[in-house]
Amino acid sequence: MQTVEDADESPWFEQKPDSNVFFDGAYGAFSVTLNLTRLRQTHFDTFPLLRTENDAGRIKLRMASQRALYAFQAFAQVINVDWFRRIWVIQEVVFAKHAVVLLGSASIPWEVLSMAATVIEMHTECCKASLSTFPELARLIEDFTLKVGQISWTRLKRRILDSPESIPLYDLLWQYRCHQATDPRDKIYALLGFLTEDARGELVPDYTLSKKEVYKRAVLQDVRATKTLKILKGHRSVPADLPSWIYDWAAPMELTDWHWERQRLRNGEYSASGHEDACLHCDNNYKLSLGGIYLDTVTTVGRHITKNTCVDAVTTWLQIVDLPSRNTDPYIGGGDYQCAFWRTLTRDLFLKDSKFERLDDPESYVAAAKIWWGKVINSNY
Ligand SMILES: [Zn+2]
Repeated sequence: MQTVEDADESPWFEQKPDSNVFFDGAYGAFSVTLNLTRLRQTHFDTFPLLRTENDAGRIKLRMASQRALYAFQAFAQVINVDWFRRIWVIQEVVFAKHAVVLLGSASIPWEVLSMAATVIEMHTECCKASLSTFPELARLIEDFTLKVGQISWTRLKRRILDSPESIPLYDLLWQYRCHQATDPRDKIYALLGFLTEDARGELVPDYTLSKKEVYKRAVLQDVRATKTLKILKGHRSVPADLPSWIYDWAAPMELTDWHWERQRLRNGEYSASGHEDACLHCDNNYKLSLGGIYLDTVTTVGRHITKNTCVDAVTTWLQIVDLPSRNTDPYIGGGDYQCAFWRTLTRDLFLKDSKFERLDDPESYVAAAKIWWGKVINSNY
């Protein structure tokens, strides 16, 4: 059997990947992966399978040759294979002593894929501009990093660090949110093996239970184990088969939506209840009860915001708070009404270097948010 070290000299160079014969390009795909690990010493503009082109003074990244293109096409095929979308495969990689990826007669240790994903992360900023000149490649690289990085993260925690620290179920559920299972209950069951005894509690695979019951038990167990209500967070559409407080882990989600939603939920800037332990109760009718503090009454509910209703939804909210006529009225929490409105809308967070941060100077941020909104409503949104 050839190993990846032989790949540079392999006949794949002469083979065009055939969509019907997937494994033709295995060596090509593995060669791209191996080369990516070498980005430790170099950057994308000097990557062996790429060349730069001067387009009216702008340096653009392009494929170095036809065979480099075939190699990248094969690489794309590997990343797009269904295997990466299934939930049960995670434990195959995580628990394997020596995880090896086999494609036809070619093989590559999982650690090479993992290393490639880690090395790419080092180029997030320095190669951002050059990769933006080749969007298809940038997307491919990002896709690879996300898919491999996710599984490698769990493997690293479990095997290499041999971390006794528990990974909460909630973190795992979000980590593998886009992975699919034929049986929705497996979205929970396939992750139980990664939990410590405390985090797992009494959750065990039991296929006599309904999806609703399994998801309910997962919520209650995660709250018990983490003493937080994190698992109740997150935007959700409410499917008919679940109460509104239970997130539907089986609902399909695109990787790009996942990326932003996870980023949003990870933000730990708020802690209104300090370090109080969360406790909740669920009765036999799936009615959830929680302790809390009474602050105010919800009097009006505006439109729900979705990808396509952003403008309409925000416009109804503006009307509800009667912002145009109350712009400069003082707000009870400090500042004026318009400041409170835009800070609420943006959760008082600003995206900086791919991370949400709270700002020291909300006033200037409010000004920027208002300019943004002006542009949105004047555009053909
Ligand atoms: Zn770089």
